[in-house]
Amino acid sequence: MKLLSVVVPCYNEEENIALFYEEFIKNQPYFAKRGMEFEMIYVDDGSKDHTREEIRKLHERDSRVRMISFSRNFGKEAGLLAGFEHTRGDYIVAMDVDLQDPPALLPEMFSYIDEGYDSVATRRVTRKGEPPLRSFFARCFYKLMRHISKTEIVDGARDYRLMTRQVVDAILSMKEYNRFTKGIYGWVGFETKWIEFENVERIKGETKWSFWKLLLYSLEGIMAFSTVPLSIAAFVGICFCVIAFAAMVLIIIRTLIWGDPVGGWPSLVCIITLVAGVQLFCIGIIGQYLAKTYMEVKGRPIYIVKEEL
Ligand code: UDP
Ligand code: MG
Repeated sequence: MKLLSVVVPCYNEEENIALFYEEFIKNQPYFAKRGMEFEMIYVDDGSKDHTREEIRKLHERDSRVRMISFSRNFGKEAGLLAGFEHTRGDYIVAMDVDLQDPPALLPEMFSYIDEGYDSVATRRVTRKGEPPLRSFFARCFYKLMRHISKTEIVDGARDYRLMTRQVVDAILSMKEYNRFTKGIYGWVGFETKWIEFENVERIKGETKWSFWKLLLYSLEGIMAFSTVPLSIAAFVGICFCVIAFAAMVLIIIRTLIWGDPVGGWPSLVCIITLVAGVQLFCIGIIGQYLAKTYMEVKGRPIYIVKEEL
C-alpha cells in the first residue's frame, strides 16, 4: 500500500483547519480505488490563535492527522521544510490550508505521476481577486527572475506540488538557511508536469503576506538564486571608470587648446554626489549578500519544534 503525505503549513488558521480536512477527505474514494493511504501533517507555524487546538481535535478524531508545532513563527518556508522532513510517504504533496490549492486537483495530478513524471506542479493562470498593484509587481518579479536566474521560476507558480519521495529527498538535501522553495523546486530538476487552474480566493481569514513582506520575500528569492546584482554592481563600476577616463582625456585636450579658465564647480558637485551614490548602492548590494552569507555561516536551525503529535 502506497502512502501519500500531505504537508500543510498553517499560521493563525483556526477557521480553516477543519474545512481543509473536510475538503481533502472528499478524495477518499479516489484514494481507496488507488489503494493508497494518506497522512496529513499540519505544521503550526507558531500560531497565536486556536490553530493548535483545532489540529489536536482533528488528531483525536483521525490518527492520520499529525501536527508539528513551532516554538514561534518561523515563516512558511520553514514550515514546508519541517513538513517534508517529517513525511514518511511515497508521494508528498504541499498545500495551503486556505483551500487556494484545490484538493480536487489531486486525481489529475496523480494521473501524470502514473505517466512517469517525478513531480506535478500547479500554476494559477489568473490572479482574480488580488489587488492589481500586487499582481503587477508579482508579474515584474517573475519577468526579472527569468532574466537573471538560471533556475526556472514560473509565473503564478504555487507551492502546491505533488512529488515522489526521490524529489523530496533531493529538496531535503538542500540545507540552506535562506530558503526560497519556488526556486529550490526548480533547482533540483526532475521531470515536472505543469497544470493550470483559475485563482481561487481563500475561504476564511486574511492573507498573511503584506505588500512589504512580499517585497522582502522577492528580494530574498533574487539573492538566493542569482548573483546578477553583484555583476551589475561590477558592470556599473566599469562604466564609470570608462566615462571618467574619457572625460580625463577630453579635459586634457581642451586645456591644451583653450587654456584652463576656472569654473565648473556645480558640475563637479553633481559628479561627486552621483558617484558617491552609485558606490553606496553597490556596497549595499554586496552587503546584502554578505548578510545572507553571515546567516548561512551561523548554521542556526531553520525551525524549532515545540510539540509533535
Ligand atoms: N503561512 C505560514 N507561515 C507564515 C505565513 C503563512 O505557515 O508565516 C501559511 C498560511 O497559513 C497558508 C500558507 O502559508 O496556509 C499561505 O499563506 P497565505 O494564504 O496567507 O498566502 P497567499 O495565499 O495570500 O499568498
Ligand atoms: Mg492563501
